[in-house]
Amino acid sequence: MAYLVAANWKMNKTIAQTIDYLDIFTELVKDIQKVDIMISPSFTALSSASLKVEKTNIKLGAQNMYYETVGAFTGEISPIMLKELNVEYVILGHSERRHIFGEKDNLINKKVQSALENGIRPILCVGETLEERELGKTLNVVEKQIKSGLAGVYMDMPFIDIAYEPVWAIGTGINATPEQAEEVHRFIRSLINELSKGNDSKTRILYGGSVNEKNARELISQKHIDGFLVGTASLDPNRFYKIITEC
Ligand code: PEP
Repeated sequence: MAYLVAANWKMNKTIAQTIDYLDIFTELVKDIQKVDIMISPSFTALSSASLKVEKTNIKLGAQNMYYETVGAFTGEISPIMLKELNVEYVILGHSERRHIFGEKDNLINKKVQSALENGIRPILCVGETLEERELGKTLNVVEKQIKSGLAGVYMDMPFIDIAYEPVWAIGTGINATPEQAEEVHRFIRSLINELSKGNDSKTRILYGGSVNEKNARELISQKHIDGFLVGTASLDPNRFYKIITEC
């Protein structure tokens, strides 16, 4: 199983900035084969990015999608629209979607099911708030988010990746220590192994939360960390490339 290193650009980069980035980044990573690389630009830049990454080793992801394929859902983006742009991954249940936009496990589960039905690989994001960690609830929160986010699709585990992203570590510059991350990743691995009846060997468990070129090596050396979901440090092609080379 190859590591997956995925960029979450969030609401950053215009079309022109995306093209400039990819001019540099495609060259930097062109010889990398042992790591799967994914970028997820804004919806408006996906089309241009799709053309730029064609015939490269960079895969395209979306930061969100709706679960219906067509209809009266003003402002939403459908999985078939993403497929048309060669989008292969979709980030679902990101903490900003949960906490700023109020997405609940039930909605996230519908999106996961729809992504799978439409041949897009979901990256389900889970993670506890600081308060939940301090109350000792981390593993309970993660277990609930995984069980409800993946309800009905446990047997599709080979087509799903999971990102453990502690909310307190996202965009704060404070990453989970390798030991803190490893504890949760080990728990997630054993949980998905049980839920899928042992069919989880193709599921990567990514760590996300203030990953950078300095802490990547120590984090990736943990047994149950299979890659990264990177926000801030992925916005610079040179920094993101360095993180990839640490894997
Ligand atoms: C993210 O938003 O998924 C993320 C991990 O952000 P950052 O790397 O900036 O903490």
